Amino acid sequence: MKKLLTFLCTAVVLTALCSCNQAADSKMTETEIMMDTVVTITVWDSDEEVMNGAFDICRKYEKIFSRTIENSDVSKINNSNGEIITVSPETAELISMSLDISEMSDGAFDISILPLVNLWDVNNTSVPPNPQQITEAKAQVGFKSILLQGNNVKLPPGHSIDLGSVAKGYITDKVRDYLLSTGVKKAIINLGGNVTLIGNNNKKEYSVGIQKPFALHGESAAILKLSNKTAVTSGVYERYFEYENKIYHHIIDPKTGYPTKNDIASVTIIADSSALADSLSTACLVLGKEKGMELANLKGVEAIFIDLDGNIFISSGLDIDYNGTVPKISLKF
Ligand code: AMP
Ligand code: MG
Repeated sequence: MKKLLTFLCTAVVLTALCSCNQAADSKMTETEIMMDTVVTITVWDSDEEVMNGAFDICRKYEKIFSRTIENSDVSKINNSNGEIITVSPETAELISMSLDISEMSDGAFDISILPLVNLWDVNNTSVPPNPQQITEAKAQVGFKSILLQGNNVKLPPGHSIDLGSVAKGYITDKVRDYLLSTGVKKAIINLGGNVTLIGNNNKKEYSVGIQKPFALHGESAAILKLSNKTAVTSGVYERYFEYENKIYHHIIDPKTGYPTKNDIASVTIIADSSALADSLSTACLVLGKEKGMELANLKGVEAIFIDLDGNIFISSGLDIDYNGTVPKISLKF
């Protein structure tokens, strides 16, 4: 049930997949709950074997990146007590990419955030931790203490990592590469709101709804018109508890040790790489609108910020059309 709820809180939803004739172009959709979320893959003109292969990829990487699976690379690192751990090339690649985003975001994005994530435990608690606990946990956070050399990782005792902000994006890219390698020309991959589109929707763009923050699931703040791209949203409304009329959500500012406090409710990144989009959506939410927009520009991706009042801010490569009930956002040509 909790997993289902997680899905219901998912940030990006596909509102209209396609207006095509199902009988004429064989479409296959499968859904599985994995990685603490709902994974839905839709492929056109392919077969069950390809579909199974796509889900096998999700399972393979979940086993490596999960912090709750005992023998995953992440668990080995987190239980290493200062010893050097040799990880798979994919884990090393993901850590290396994350460290790059940490540097570029001046530490706003930090996969060593786990001591603080565990302390806040927003899914299971209803009262904020005390300042002393936050100071203690914060002392065990800092991306500069992650040492990565080739496939070897070393963390100081007491430190731990969490790839939750980036792994789904990385896995989505792997599924996309696999589907393309089998000759798939049209597909939608949705890993708990990380949406990647292969091809186009009968020569038009697909429609992807950006969830309206704090509204009912499925209510869109805007509709993205996209082909051949990935869209990833991070939102403060996704997981949170309320205490004394304040919201304490799941994205933590490593500098303060508290859930980020700025006027931004969600950030959506549009890019070619879902791993990059995933890390940047989290980073930009922590950074806020001005610095977040700068980082998005620097990385060559498009960004949509929605503030707590519902105002929408788009990066320079996007167009927004306010005609109609819900604004439509598309890439400039
Ligand atoms: P996302 O939904 O992709 O923005 O990822 C949010 C998840 O990333 C949280 O549930 C935490 O597990 C983790 N996280 C929280 N704060 C940070 C941060 N500042 N940098 C990196 N990961 C974070
Ligand atoms: Mg993310």
